[in-house]
Amino acid sequence: LASRDFHPENTVISIGDVKIGGGELVVMGGPCAVESPEQIDEIAGLVKAAGGQVLRGGAFKPRTGPYSFQGIGVEGLVMMAEAGKKHGLLTITEVMTPEYVDICAEYADILQVGTRNMQNFDLLRKLGACGKPVLLKRGFSATYDEFLNAAEYILAGGNPNVMLCERGIRTFETYTRNTLDLSAIPVLQSLSHLPVISDPSHGTGRRELVEPMTKASVAAGADGLIIEMHTDPDNSMTGDGVQSLFPDQFAALLQDLEKLAPIV
Ligand code: PEP
Ligand code: MN
Repeated sequence: LASRDFHPENTVISIGDVKIGGGELVVMGGPCAVESPEQIDEIAGLVKAAGGQVLRGGAFKPRTGPYSFQGIGVEGLVMMAEAGKKHGLLTITEVMTPEYVDICAEYADILQVGTRNMQNFDLLRKLGACGKPVLLKRGFSATYDEFLNAAEYILAGGNPNVMLCERGIRTFETYTRNTLDLSAIPVLQSLSHLPVISDPSHGTGRRELVEPMTKASVAAGADGLIIEMHTDPDNSMTGDGVQSLFPDQFAALLQDLEKLAPIV
């Protein structure tokens, strides 16, 4: 079902007034994690003012260590939904387990599957029946074939609204956190009809690389971007402050993108 042979036309996912995969660039921005009502409200205002369409933020965080901050949970979903509504933004949040799919689908417009869960088949099956669009991140060691098979689980469950997200893969290089595989963008678009979103934040792990890799992703044909932005990255509650843009950098980057590709 994910193959272009089966479905030659591009899939366009419409959510409210936003169309993803229809030729206009969609920008999703926000913090790694929802931290407080004030934090997510302020960042939502900045994403909207900069021209973004979707507010990102994790309420449930997949952390490498069990003692690290794990996200604020359901309260975070509520805070993000309120901020999105107030500022006229769609929302995207990560869902980590099948049990939480229903509640995440109640509060968010798009559900995100993280890189560590790309082959959590029970989760993928449950998302096939969730009724909301899904952004599926590529596993950090997954081939294109494995990635498309993971998408297939969601599609086969009856949900046609799947976006593929390149977020960097693990290579021998340690300077960057991951290696953003830019080739994935045109390759996935040729193999599949699903929209392809790039995540230059996790793809590099370094703030100074987010701007060039965002522009490179757009040049490679990405249908959208998901970018971390924080008002106080040095004090963010996850380690991802180092890859989060400051609000002025985020706004300047979106201005530059308008010159490269029309934003919705
Ligand atoms: C995130 O988007 O904050 C995240 C945890 O992403 P990934 O699953 O790509 O590491
Ligand atoms: Mn993050």
